[in-house]
Amino acid sequence: MSLLSFFFLSRRITKIQKTSELYRYNRVWIPDNEEVWRSAEITKNYKAGDRFLHVQLEDGTELNYPVDPAALPPLRNPDILVGENDLTALSYLHEPAVLHNLKVRFVESKLIYTYSGIILVAINPYKELPIYGDAIIHAYSGQNMGDMDPHIFAVAEEAYKQMARNNKNQSIIVSGESGAGKTVSARYTMRYFATVSKSSSNAHVEDKVLASNPITEAVGNAKTTRNDNSSRFGKYTEISFDQSYQIIGANMRTYLLEKSRVVFQSENERNYHIFYQLCASAMQPEFKHLKLGSAEEFNYTRMGGSTVIEGVDDRANMVETQKTFLEDKHLGIFCELLDLNCDKMAQWMCHRKIITTSETVIKPMTRAQAVNARDALAKKIYSHLFDFIVERINQALHFPGKQHTFIGVLDIYGFETFDVNSFEQFCINYANEKLQQQFNLHVFKLEQEEYMKEDIPWTLIDFYDNQPVIDLIEAKMGILELLDEECLLPHGTDENWLQKLYNNFVNKNALFEKPRMSNTSFIVQHFADKVECKQRITKYLTVILSPHFQFHLCANSFQDNPVSISPFSSTINIRSARPVLKSPNKQLRMTVGSKFRSSLSLLMVTLNATTPHYVRCIKPNDEKLPFEFDSKRVAQQLRACGVLETIRISAQSYPSRWTYIEFFSRYSILMTQQELSINDKKQICKIVLQRLIQDHNQYQFGRTKIFFRAGQVAYLEKLRSDK
Ligand code: ATP
Ligand code: MG
Repeated sequence: MSLLSFFFLSRRITKIQKTSELYRYNRVWIPDNEEVWRSAEITKNYKAGDRFLHVQLEDGTELNYPVDPAALPPLRNPDILVGENDLTALSYLHEPAVLHNLKVRFVESKLIYTYSGIILVAINPYKELPIYGDAIIHAYSGQNMGDMDPHIFAVAEEAYKQMARNNKNQSIIVSGESGAGKTVSARYTMRYFATVSKSSSNAHVEDKVLASNPITEAVGNAKTTRNDNSSRFGKYTEISFDQSYQIIGANMRTYLLEKSRVVFQSENERNYHIFYQLCASAMQPEFKHLKLGSAEEFNYTRMGGSTVIEGVDDRANMVETQKTFLEDKHLGIFCELLDLNCDKMAQWMCHRKIITTSETVIKPMTRAQAVNARDALAKKIYSHLFDFIVERINQALHFPGKQHTFIGVLDIYGFETFDVNSFEQFCINYANEKLQQQFNLHVFKLEQEEYMKEDIPWTLIDFYDNQPVIDLIEAKMGILELLDEECLLPHGTDENWLQKLYNNFVNKNALFEKPRMSNTSFIVQHFADKVECKQRITKYLTVILSPHFQFHLCANSFQDNPVSISPFSSTINIRSARPVLKSPNKQLRMTVGSKFRSSLSLLMVTLNATTPHYVRCIKPNDEKLPFEFDSKRVAQQLRACGVLETIRISAQSYPSRWTYIEFFSRYSILMTQQELSINDKKQICKIVLQRLIQDHNQYQFGRTKIFFRAGQVAYLEKLRSDK
C-alpha cells in the first residue's frame, strides 16, 4: 500500500473514541510510567460512563484500569499496519502508535529510518551500519522516494530530483537534540550530492566541499557529556550547482557559536577539538614556534578533568585538519593571532582607564575583573577566528562559474530544555519556533495543493499557528526588543529587564509566566514545552572588555594583520564603550539577541524561497548503546521535534489516502457479486464504501484517491479480517 500522503491522525480520532464504546478483544494503549505506553486487551465490553476498563496486559496481568469516560485510552492499530515504513499509513496515528511502530522497526528489524509523511525520522543506531556505501548511493540515485526504503539518501535524492525537475532551490532541514545524529546525517547528504553530481570540469570541487567538514568540526565541535563530537554552533551549508546540476562550490553560514566553552568547560567536557589537536602536535616542526605543551598544562584545556576522548587521536586528527586547510598560510595567520605585545597586553588586562571631567585615572582592576577581561578576550578572539575561518572556507569554496541552483543543508540544534536554561536555549528555542512555523505553513500549502489536485472540496484545516509566541519574542516591545533597550542603557541590568518583562507580560500574555518562587527567571510556553530561562541573560550581551583594552588591540597589536582589525573594531561593548568611544558605528549597537534575530530572519527568507525537506534525528538512549530504545526519551523527543505536533495540527485532515486501485485490490473480499459485476472499478469502490461506512463525512472521493478520516482504515481492516 503506498500511502505516500502525509501523516496525521486527528483530533477527530479522539472524538470518535470519546463517543464510542470499547469491546472485548479491542486492543488499547494505557499510559505507563516506565514504558510510556503498554498494550492491553479489553476483557469485558465497556459501556459509556463506566469508570473502569477491564483489561489484560501482554504479560497476562489482569487489571481494572480506571478511566476518564471523556478520554478513553487510544486504540491499537491492526497488526498488518505495524512496522509500516511510513507512519501516515497507520490508521490510528497517535503517540503510542508512532512510538510502537518506530520501536518495532528499530529494535526488531534494525531499521533506523521511517517516514512520517514528509518528515524522515532517523534514529541514531550508535553503531556503524553498512548502508552508506557508494553502491547504496547509486541504488538510490534516480529512484522515486516511495519506491525505496526510507533513507537519508532518499531525502537527498528527492531534493536533487526536485531541484533538477523544477529548477528550484531546495533545503534539507536536519534537527534533533545533541547526539541525535544531525551532523552525521548532514554529512551523508553532502556525500550523496558529491557522489551523484560529480563535476567533470573541476575534478576536486566536491572533495573540497566535503573537506570543509573536518575544519569546521575542529574549531566548532567539542566533547560534551552528551556527545564526544558535539557541534557547538548551527550551520547552513549551501551547495551550488550549475545548469547541468553538477556541483560548482559551496557556501556556509554559521549561527551562535558557544563562546563560553573557550574559557569554561564543565566536568568531563573539553574545549574545542582544535586546542587538543594543537597541543598533541606541539613538537611538530610547524607548530614548535607556538611553544605549546601538553593540554594538561593549560587551564582552558584541562578544566573538564579529562583531556582525551576514548578512541580519538588528536595528533592524527590535527594532520587531518591541516590537510584540509587549502593553504598553510591561513593556519599561520590563525596562530599568529595570539602573538600580542606582552607589556601592553598586561597593562590593559589588569588596569582600566577612567575618564572624568577633570582627570583621567588609571586604576587597577580586581582579580575577578581581570579574569573576566581575560576570558572575554579569549572568547572574542576565538569567535572571530571561527568567523574568519568560515569566511576563508567560503572563499576557498567559491569557484568561477555561475550558480544556477542550490541545495542548502541546515544542521541546527533542536528545541531544548534543561533544568537551568540560559540565553542560548532561549535563542535555540526561538529558532525552532520559526522553523516549526515554516514547517506548518509548508504542510498546509501541500495539503491545499493535494486537495485541489484531487478536486476535493476545501476543508479548513484547523492548524496550530505559533505566531503568538514568535510575536512575544520578536515583535515590537517583545522580549528581545526590551532586552536591547536595557542593554543600551548605561546602567541596564538583568533585574531591570526582567521587571520590564513582568510588567509587560504577566497576566497579559498567556504564553508568558513569572515563576511563583523566583524573581530571576521567566517562563515561555513554546510549542513543545514550557521553558524557564534564568536571569544573567544580559551577560551574553556585554563583553567585559575594557574599551581601552579593545582600543589597544585595534590600534596597536596587529595593525598589519587582516584578521584583527575588522573583528576587534566591531566588538565594542555597547554599555561600557559608550562614554569612551564617542562615535561607535551604529552597527555596534546590535546586541547578540538582535543580531541573532536578523540572521535568523535572513535564514527564514532563504528557506522560504526553497522547497524544504525535513529530517528529524532521534537519540534513542542516553548511554550511547547500539539499538537500545528508551521509549521515554524517544517520546520526549518526538514531542519536542514537532512530529507529534504535526500529527495534532492535522487534526481535521484525512490521514489515510488510497488510490482506487489499491482500495479495490485490498477490499474486493468485502464486495458483493452484484457490486463486482459493475464495469467501472472506481464506481464499485464508491458504492462499496457508501454501503460499509454510513457516515459519509468519514471519507472523500478524489479524482484518483479515496481520502479517509482517522480510524476508518482500521475499521475496514477489521471487516476484512472478520470475513
Ligand atoms: P550535536 O547537537 O551535539 O552536534 P548531533 O546531533 O550533531 O549532536 P552527531 O555528532 O551527528 O550528533 O552524532 C553523534 C554520534 O552518534 C556520532 O558521532 C556517531 O557515533 C553516532 N551516529 C549518529 N548517526 C549515526 C549513524 N547514522 N550511524 C552510526 N552512528 C551514528
Ligand atoms: Mg552536530
